[in-house]
Amino acid sequence: MSGAALKLGCIADDFTGATDLANNLVRAGMRVVQTIGVPSGPLGTEVDAVVVALKSRTIPADQAVAQSLDALRWLKSQDAQQIYFKYCSTFDSTPAGNIGPVTEALMDALGSDFSIATPAFPDNKRTVFKGYLFAGDVLLSESGMQNHPLTPMTDPNLVRVLQSQTRRKVGLIDHSVVAQGATAIQSRIAALKADGVGIAIVDAVSNDDLLRMGPALADLPLVTAGSGVAIALPANFGLQPSNQAAALPAAYGLQAVVSGSCSVATNAQVAHFIASGRPALALQPLRMAAGDDVVREALDWARPHLASGPVLVYSTAEPDDVRAIQAQLGVEQAGAMVEQTLAAIARGLVELGVRQLIVAGGETSGACVQALGIAQMRIGGQIDPGVPWCHAASAAAPEGLHIALKSGNFGSTDFFTKAFTCLQG
Ligand code: ADP
Repeated sequence: MSGAALKLGCIADDFTGATDLANNLVRAGMRVVQTIGVPSGPLGTEVDAVVVALKSRTIPADQAVAQSLDALRWLKSQDAQQIYFKYCSTFDSTPAGNIGPVTEALMDALGSDFSIATPAFPDNKRTVFKGYLFAGDVLLSESGMQNHPLTPMTDPNLVRVLQSQTRRKVGLIDHSVVAQGATAIQSRIAALKADGVGIAIVDAVSNDDLLRMGPALADLPLVTAGSGVAIALPANFGLQPSNQAAALPAAYGLQAVVSGSCSVATNAQVAHFIASGRPALALQPLRMAAGDDVVREALDWARPHLASGPVLVYSTAEPDDVRAIQAQLGVEQAGAMVEQTLAAIARGLVELGVRQLIVAGGETSGACVQALGIAQMRIGGQIDPGVPWCHAASAAAPEGLHIALKSGNFGSTDFFTKAFTCLQG
């Protein structure tokens, strides 16, 4: 980080959540790099914020704490002025962790006696009122999250949820205070601290609430939140929204989409791409399982098409088809096999000259980034909410490529064509 101190050092508990946070920071005026895990040395580029992407949301709490402290040490070595711990806007966690233990460990390491917690992200319909988290029009515990396989959220009261995960006393800065602005919030923080509160849930039902909150957070060593609060922090460092923050090198090279997401939105995006008459190749998981060389076949298929525009290689399928494959191969085995195949194809496409690559699917993105040997990505302009173009050096493209990682349900129906148009613009 050649001399200049890092303004904001962020630790995100999963990969696509890290991109979501980075995207909000860029839109609010920060130059941002997202790293895949904790870097081994300095970044080699000057930015305002770094988001270290961990995969710590559902691992055992002691490991999540150790990884987060490791990230903190690196961020402090880059002179980060403030630390941001990013979790999901649905506060995904269990009574055994990890939001409480990680927050507590970061506070201890920073010598901090007070922090805030709010997953509010009004742009994404996550709001907090009287300490209760709403997803859309319903309480978190009625939103489907009560049935989440790994982190079922059955209590929408975040004060109670967080209190069950931490020894520090948890309090609330409710909407009647937030609505009055930063001075009132600061007074409430002082009163809570006098009362022995170490972490306060903060209400926010609109972006205006988040923006009112921002100045009151300027002196906190640690902020913990979803990605929403990010819209209010760059102003504390004197930064305003600007196109410069999102500037990436000029795009060139061939274009491709690799899709392993089976979400509703992705199915519609694949159908739209095919209906537009562009070349698309469906992969058959049973042929992968039979040992057929589908990677070579896909690359042989793609080679002649690439010169005339974007190609799509996909395993995306409707739920019934996915269930049938899972029944035959096992859920995890099918998932891992398809991810590894798509990752090998992504790498092969880059070796063929693809320099503008879209990957659809959170887990699929993780596998592709790993296969491409990407260690860090500069975050560029937003294509659709939560999905920016990024620029990254890869073992297969040392001079860099443009890459967009789209998690399942993000993006408009025409995402796979629109994204390339955005990049040229
Ligand atoms: P999303 O972001 O939509 O959840 P992910 O990539 O995270 O997408 O998850 C999709 C999972 O489904 C991956 O593990 C992927 O390998 C697997 N998968 C993709 N296509 C198929 C298929 N046709 N049959 C079975 N599993 C599949």
